[in-house]
Amino acid sequence: MPMGGNEGNVRWMKVGVLALQGAFREHAAALKRCGCEVVEVRKPINIEGIDALVIPGGESTTIGKLLGDYGLIEPILAKACYGLPIFGTCAGAIILARDIAGSDQPHLGLIDIMVQRNAYGRQVDSFEVDLEIPVLGKEPFAAVFIRAPLIKETRPGVEVLAHYKDGIVLARQGNVLVSTFHPELTSDLRLHRYFLNMVAGSVKQER
Ligand code: GLN
Repeated sequence: MPMGGNEGNVRWMKVGVLALQGAFREHAAALKRCGCEVVEVRKPINIEGIDALVIPGGESTTIGKLLGDYGLIEPILAKACYGLPIFGTCAGAIILARDIAGSDQPHLGLIDIMVQRNAYGRQVDSFEVDLEIPVLGKEPFAAVFIRAPLIKETRPGVEVLAHYKDGIVLARQGNVLVSTFHPELTSDLRLHRYFLNMVAGSVKQER
């Protein structure tokens, strides 16, 4: 089984969910269903003691601005340097990208990808597709895209985990995972569990 059967091993994990704007409640609910403790992150102090961080979808310009206003950029970058696992979905993926095509909006730049915002056009602004995601097993994953970005380029070191048509929609570099879709909006917990497995693996490496 690609998931490694680590599900019983998440109770000790304290996972921060950036709760400035966007779909943070849905991520918190999905993570709680996986069995870990969830902390809503709004201030630098909330980052103390977390084992991982989720950056939700929403509006990346707003999230980026609020990250700056609330003094969260430096503390997150500092933790990321020490290997904090971070999962960004949709706007969260934009915030984590090294480069955002045609934009100099504030972001964290923690994964070597270039993203294009709103890549599917304004008319088709939301849709659901069954994606093949080999690391999650054979069963397709129902992926919800909402005004989604596209990962247009990846640099060496970035592992591409799923495509939709010509574009990359799920990628990982070390402890950073990004999806351009919203796994928190369906009841399928496999991608959250995959991330929690990364968290378990990263702690093992540190020890
Ligand atoms: N279009 C949004 C942005 O550029 C992302 C949409 C989402 O997170 N669902 O920030």
